[in-house]
Amino acid sequence: MYTLALETSCDETSAAVIQNGRIILSNIISTQVPIHRKFGGVVPEIASRQHIEYVMPVIQEALDTAQVDLQEIDHIGVTYGPGLVGALLVGVAAAKALSFALDKPLVGVNHMEGHIFANFLSHPELEPPFLALVVSGGHTQLVQIKDYNTFSLLGQTRDDAAGEAFDKIARVMGYPYPGGPQIDQLAKTGDPEAIIFPKALHEKNNFEFSFSGLKSAVLNYLHTEEQRGNRYNVNNVAASFQKTVVETLVEKTMDAAAYCHAEKIAVAGGVSANSALAEAMETICAEQGYAFYRPEPVLCTDNGAMIGCRAYYMALEGHFADLTLNARPSLAITSY
Ligand code: ATP
Ligand code: MG
Ligand code: FE
Repeated sequence: MYTLALETSCDETSAAVIQNGRIILSNIISTQVPIHRKFGGVVPEIASRQHIEYVMPVIQEALDTAQVDLQEIDHIGVTYGPGLVGALLVGVAAAKALSFALDKPLVGVNHMEGHIFANFLSHPELEPPFLALVVSGGHTQLVQIKDYNTFSLLGQTRDDAAGEAFDKIARVMGYPYPGGPQIDQLAKTGDPEAIIFPKALHEKNNFEFSFSGLKSAVLNYLHTEEQRGNRYNVNNVAASFQKTVVETLVEKTMDAAAYCHAEKIAVAGGVSANSALAEAMETICAEQGYAFYRPEPVLCTDNGAMIGCRAYYMALEGHFADLTLNARPSLAITSY
């Protein structure tokens, strides 16, 4: 079975062809990062226009690379939320047009579920149930994956996402968007004990996150040091901030794993590419006897392949959309 999948929720235009849910035949990602960089973040209107320009060539390249003809496609998966409304609309409109013209079933995919399903692509042996920690540019969530179409949201952030804090702090320190990878790099030669930053909501069995206080504390530190005419040590700031985020994510994930009797833990989303988070999760999971999973780096950030994998498991159980499918900017994780 062949799935054609489209992803345009933010600043990557991506199309993929997936065979039987787990085999990536192609995964073409056209990133707009260099275009948005001079603005310090994603400009929604520019993102929509770029998606319009690139969506058809990216689909064509995905089909060409996979050596699969449009007629051979079994169904079309597309991200319809959450994300930027104008950006989502481009993918949704393209997928609906293809579905109508080719008379192929349409599958509306939740972007966050797609991030989680990236783990199935990197780990052929992985099967539900497992606990997922989703850490991305716009979300921080703990989700129980009970089977391929039954999920339970244990908790999420009340304010900023983890990725947002990484990006904002990097920007104030003068690094280009997106700052997460920069902080990861800087932290490698910094002292994580140099500065004590606050942790929020750390009581047991509280699966909500809050990163806005930590973000403000780091920004205040930077501004205060500047006002005093001190040159702060970027490596120590990065390492101390990153340690605080990683400890919070790890503590809450392990707490949630015990609470829901999970045996396997998977991370997903752009921030799961963070080397300190991966190392900390690997170590603690090994110590405590959990199997640990993480997508390969290219599948951690936005891509069409993860959407194709999610679409396949929806299609298997007949969860199709019709041509009334619309963009849903704040779509929540759902069970089917
Ligand atoms: P969402 O998935 O919530 O809609 P998004 O799609 O914009 O948001 P992703 O593509 O999943 O987010 O991830 C992008 C985020 O990942 C950015 O905030 C980026 O800084 C962060 N990121 C990428 N690599 C790393 C890293 N090595 N360390 C920390 N953060 C990282
Ligand atoms: Mg992106
Ligand atoms: Fe994403």
